[in-house]
Amino acid sequence: MLGWAAFTTVNLLQVNANALAGQFSGRVVLRASQVARTARAARVTPRLRYSSSSSPANMSQSKAAALEFLDFVNASPTPYHAVASASRLLDAAGFALIRERDNWASTVKPGGKYYLTRNGSSVVAFAVGARWQPGNPIGMVGAHTDSPCLRVKPVSKRTAKGYIQVGVETYGGGVWHSWFDRDLSVAGRVLVREGAAEGAAEGAANFVQKLVKVDKPIMRIPHLAIHLHRQTNFDPNKEDELLPIAGLAEAELNKSADASPEAQPPPAADGDDFQPLKQLAERHHPAFLSLVAEQAGVDVSQIVDFELVLYDTHQSCLGGLNDEFIFSPRLDNLTMTFCSIQGLISSVRTAPLDNDASIRLVACFDHEEIGSCSAHGADSNLLPAILRRLSVIPGSSSSSSSSSSPPAADTAFEQTLSTSFLLSADMAHAVHPNYAAKYERNHGPALNGGPVIKINANQRYATNSPGIVLLQEVARAARVPLQLFVVRNDSPCGSTIGPILSAKLGVRTLDLGNPQLAMHSIRETGGSRDVEYAVRLFDGFLSRFCELEGRILVD
Ligand SMILES: [Zn+2]
Repeated sequence: MLGWAAFTTVNLLQVNANALAGQFSGRVVLRASQVARTARAARVTPRLRYSSSSSPANMSQSKAAALEFLDFVNASPTPYHAVASASRLLDAAGFALIRERDNWASTVKPGGKYYLTRNGSSVVAFAVGARWQPGNPIGMVGAHTDSPCLRVKPVSKRTAKGYIQVGVETYGGGVWHSWFDRDLSVAGRVLVREGAAEGAAEGAANFVQKLVKVDKPIMRIPHLAIHLHRQTNFDPNKEDELLPIAGLAEAELNKSADASPEAQPPPAADGDDFQPLKQLAERHHPAFLSLVAEQAGVDVSQIVDFELVLYDTHQSCLGGLNDEFIFSPRLDNLTMTFCSIQGLISSVRTAPLDNDASIRLVACFDHEEIGSCSAHGADSNLLPAILRRLSVIPGSSSSSSSSSSPPAADTAFEQTLSTSFLLSADMAHAVHPNYAAKYERNHGPALNGGPVIKINANQRYATNSPGIVLLQEVARAARVPLQLFVVRNDSPCGSTIGPILSAKLGVRTLDLGNPQLAMHSIRETGGSRDVEYAVRLFDGFLSRFCELEGRILVD
């Protein structure tokens, strides 16, 4: 016995552990006097479990924002899903879907709210101030929809030692060893043959995209047992050792006998059965194709191609003793995608467009993790083309001021660029307690300490003083704390879409992002209060940019 107080053993420390990202139970030894107190506390302490259906009623605003974010991430395992999730938020807020291929002359007007997508994986949303005139400023927040992942190869069918395996290609700079021993599944888009095109010859079909998310764990990349592998550094070979298992070949043999007839595409109307590529059923395991087809709501024979990636079925959740963390995949950069879209939606509610002479815009791009150079990445013409089209939207006649004539249409684009501003929003590194020496000693951002301004003398980040002045003004009014980050001189530095877009457009730019740990791991850690900070900051920036723009006098 320890000392002379009465002790008793109680089995009660069962923290139901969505919040701790794993079941955590145990036995504690308490003084008898503590038992009654603990029992009382147990009756009044709510369970630390929050699901997507948790009601945000009487919850703090910051927790409600964090829970909404969890729903967003859980619904968005790929950029296609992230764009669909963002579109749902924008639809609900009354933004109208427009298309780049259309003429906007009769649709996009001052006072209106719109969004468009490119490739289904990048999304741009904007709200036009009612007092807009050609050449006026555009306040912009840019983020990205993609995250490092494993993508199913064009020919994925593999078997080894009786296992069904699925060939995968690495996308971006993932912390690949974190993908071992996770409950993996697949999600992405499937292009399917559907009906006959109107007015087309009989047999001609349309090809449409369907989103797919298989909600059960179907794959795993198992570690090698420690007994067979005594190395201290675990650095798997990305071609040979990062290959998931998806079942046992014996089961597949039975399935493939049934599946093969339906996997054949229908014969062409003109009797020509020439196939330029090997059949999908030859390139991928039939059971895998059947599952994907089932999720897409089509027959296997309708699938023409797909872009599928692996994702962890473990749900994003709050964590920590006081729910101060978010344990989640894809914090980089769905956090900034979610917060920028919500900031835009919120700005239209808190500061209506009636008195605004600017455009408030959010652009979330695919392909940042691989350098942004694609038709829908930040290094494409996506943002320049949209800015060009927006810069010449005629103002509503009632709002034109008699004292200043509207700019000539042929310089409106350049005038808009020189008065606009971009917040390049991408996640930042929070200080890690076990690796503090890796951080510059005066620049270790804290989780829940607010968005981090990222600065780099060598322009890996685009931040400069006029931007910091502007952001501070916004943050002061919004009561959002900010933090500063630079890397050590002997450390490599990441980069963002900020330098790419600022160089391409000549637009003033600032790089910032919420702090997080374990960037590019399959399971990252962020701060739950930081979600609402960022939404408030972006709301404040988009609402007040027009007013602040003219007060920062640097040309
Ligand atoms: Zn990022």
